[in-house]
Amino acid sequence: MRTVNAIAATSATDPLVRTTIERRDLGPHDVLIEIRYAGICHSDIHTVRGEWGDVAYPLTVGHEIVGQVAEVGREVTGHAVGDRVGVGCMVNSCRECENCRAGQEQYCLNGNTGTYASVDRDGTVTQGGYSTHIVVDADFVLRVPENIPYEKAAPLLCAGITTYSPLAHWNAGPGKKVAVVGLGGLGHMAVKIAVAMGADVTVLSQTLGKKDDGLAFGARDYQATGDPATFEALRNSFDLIINTVSAPIDMAAYLGLLRLDGTLVSVGAPPQPLPVPVFALFGNRRSFAGSSIGGIAETQQMLDFCAERGIAPDVEVIGADAVNEAYERVLRSDVRYRFVIDVDSLR
Ligand code: NAP
Ligand code: ZN
Ligand code: ZN
Repeated sequence: MRTVNAIAATSATDPLVRTTIERRDLGPHDVLIEIRYAGICHSDIHTVRGEWGDVAYPLTVGHEIVGQVAEVGREVTGHAVGDRVGVGCMVNSCRECENCRAGQEQYCLNGNTGTYASVDRDGTVTQGGYSTHIVVDADFVLRVPENIPYEKAAPLLCAGITTYSPLAHWNAGPGKKVAVVGLGGLGHMAVKIAVAMGADVTVLSQTLGKKDDGLAFGARDYQATGDPATFEALRNSFDLIINTVSAPIDMAAYLGLLRLDGTLVSVGAPPQPLPVPVFALFGNRRSFAGSSIGGIAETQQMLDFCAERGIAPDVEVIGADAVNEAYERVLRSDVRYRFVIDVDSLR
């Protein structure tokens, strides 16, 4: 075991504090990563606040992790000391079920092992990336391309893959009209990636306050959902809507924006249900779907795609002591557009 510096939540309501956590000894197939940056995802906040269910405290969250390989187990061949690497939302899966064999480990039928708050193979609870080091099975370690700076690579490991995967699956591309609801961490990556795929992108944000940014990210249109006229003007418009909102939305109103055979995909994960009036689906033969992160191979594909196209998130780098304030700003939708912790501030 090795003891490393970290930030942890001690309850659902107290501020996160500096602490130490244990990392397991390196197994033959493990990689020890010296973490450089860790992104702050809204899922971290849902989790530490117990919004998705009870968790065991103290808990270190963070699943947008980048750094360099510090040590490898004796059977590791794909990663070497000094390599630039990343870890996203999962650190293991069964590898045997139908979905794992299809490269969709995120949908492991025996449950994937989350990077934090999950029970690991050895029975311990996994602890995430707000820490100086992590030990991860080599199969769940991604290669970070050279031309993406570390701090900008971090948010790709969750916000990037979570939006890339449904955009690719539902064929966002030339001739497709895509709306992105919510311009936060996931939303701004959805816009950049959908634009790079060739889609015609509209941002649907609560206000027009971030319109200049949305258009600079490549969106063709930007409308305020706080204005009821938006839902009239854009009725029957979109092939695909990616909902990234962390709170419940009015499903009937947003489904009405889909054209024939359009799909609204929710990646936003509010703790409350999203009630769907079935008549909102009948018109235009609409679909409502969900999507969870992406598989390991697909995550590597997304990193390479972003590197080739020069796509990177807009980040605000903070020190370890600014995490609690950053959480409050995320909750106020005051994030431009991802907070990333400089892990050197924890050493
Ligand atoms: P975020 O940075 O806080 O962005 C969410 C955005 O939603 C906000 O910036 C805001 O955009 C909008 N919003 C917030 N509250 C709203 C409300 N009450 N009504 C309408 N719009 C509201 O969060 P994130 O890190 O991108 O994560 C977004 C959601 O995705 C979270 O629920 C997270 O847990 C979930 N998630 C899911 C997966 C998955 O695999 N499916 C992966 C990662 C995250 P505007 O200011 O533009 O309106
Ligand atoms: Zn996340
Ligand atoms: Zn499996």
